[in-house]
Order: sequence, then C-alpha cells, then structure tokens
Amino acid sequence: MKRNLDLQAGKMLGAAKLYCTKGRVAILKVLMKTGKPLSRAQISQRLGKKQFDKVTIYRTLASLLKVGLVHRAFMAKRAWHFELAHRCSESQCHPHFTCTSCGSTYCLTEILLPMAKSPHKGFVIHRQQVRLEGLCPACA
Ligand SMILES: [Zn+2]
Ligand SMILES: [Zn+2]
Repeated sequence: MKRNLDLQAGKMLGAAKLYCTKGRVAILKVLMKTGKPLSRAQISQRLGKKQFDKVTIYRTLASLLKVGLVHRAFMAKRAWHFELAHRCSESQCHPHFTCTSCGSTYCLTEILLPMAKSPHKGFVIHRQQVRLEGLCPACA
C-alpha cells in the first residue's frame, strides 16, 4: 500500500512534468490517503513535525496548484482547503457537503450538477464549485 502510493505520486508528478521532490510526494500522499480537502495546517499536521516547515509546504502546494494536480476545494474557517484535482473536470468540481452539526465535510463525487448559465452579457463562467450544507448520516 505504502509503495503503491509512492508510485502513484511519482506518476502524477511525472505526468505533470514536475520533479519528484520529497515534499511533493509527501503532500500528494497525505491528500491521497485522506481523500478529502485539507487546510494547510491539517496537511502540516499529517506530515508530522519532522521534515517540512511552513514555507516548504506553502511553496510545494503552490507548485502542485500551478500544474493542476491539486486545487482549492473551498474556504472554511478562513483557510483554503486543498484536495487532489483528479476527480474534477476542468469546468466543475464535485459538490462539497458540510454537516452543520459536526462540521465534517464530504466530497460528493457522484453528483454532477448542470453548469450555471451566465447571468448577463459580459460574465464568463470558467468553473463551478458548489457547497451544500445539512446533516450527515451520523447526525441526521
Ligand atoms: Zn455530522
Ligand atoms: Zn472534494
């Protein structure tokens, strides 16, 4: 399993023409393992104290964002939450559901919503990201 994730991270970086640095591989692995959006602080927590300082994580995320391997899923508690972009199309990210009771967020990857139509002349919609709120199965 562990080796598998390393391989996968390596392949993703290769396809995006990025060098396989320790930090990139480690962050991709954290996001793969977690399977849901994480803030920079949560990523850093999961990486453990050892090797990566804030600046490294910031720069590494920026490089992954730039090539589109990772994207910003949503903002919560004043922090962007990042996730792997492989389950999203260019024009649409899957909806995210946040439980108003326990605060958990879920990726609803099986839902594909129709794209919103441009409201007025002059607006060009590039991307649609939807957030849903309610109660999760554990709280309902
Ligand atoms: Zn809940
Ligand atoms: Zn998601």
